[in-house]
Amino acid sequence: MGFSADSDVLPERAVDNSRALPMVRVLVSSCLLGESVRYDGSHARADNIILERWKAERRLVPFCPELAGGFSVPRSPAEIQGEGGLAVLRGEAIVVEKAGRDVTACFVLGAHRALQAARCDNVKLAILKDGSPSCGSTYIGNGSFKGLKRAGQGVTAALLEQQGIRVFSERQIKEAAAYLAQLEAAGAGGKPGDS
Ligand code: SF4
Repeated sequence: MGFSADSDVLPERAVDNSRALPMVRVLVSSCLLGESVRYDGSHARADNIILERWKAERRLVPFCPELAGGFSVPRSPAEIQGEGGLAVLRGEAIVVEKAGRDVTACFVLGAHRALQAARCDNVKLAILKDGSPSCGSTYIGNGSFKGLKRAGQGVTAALLEQQGIRVFSERQIKEAAAYLAQLEAAGAGGKPGDS
C-alpha cells in the first residue's frame, strides 16, 4: 500500500495532540480529600465546589508527605523546633515527636517526594492543610506541643514554595483558582482532557 502526497500530512487531530500542553495540576493534601491519614487517624475533608470540579477534571494530585516520608497511621504528633520549614531544609531547625525523637530526616524526605510528584505531574500550585509541620502554609505549632500556633510554614510547603510552586491553604481555594486561571491565560497548560 502506497502513500499519496496527502497521506504524508499528519491528520489534523494528531497535529493538535502533538501541540497540546499538559494540564496544570494541583497537589492537594490527601487529608483534605477525606483520606484518614492524619497522625491520629482522622481526616480534614474540605467540602469545596472548586475542589470537586478539579477532581472531576482529574486535575488533583493527592499527596501526604508524612506517609511518603515513611510514617504510618496513627503516628506520634510532631512539631518544628526552630524557625519553620525553610530553616529545617537549611539544617537550622528540627522536627521532633512529642516524646522527643528527632524525625527531621523523614519530614525532609516526604517534602522531596512531594516535589518529585509535583514535577512529574505538571503541578504549579498546591492546596495544603494549614497548621501541619509538613503542610502548614500560614501557621504551624510553636514546638511546645501545647496546641499553640505561630506564623510559619511546614517543611513540604516551604520546599514547594522555594521551588516555584505556589502553596495555598484550605481557606484560600478561591485564590488558588484565580492563580490557576492566570497561569492558564498565560498559556502555562492545556485544558482538562489534554493529558
Ligand atoms: Fe494531611 Fe499533610 Fe498531615 Fe498528610 S502530612 S495528614 S497530607 S496535613
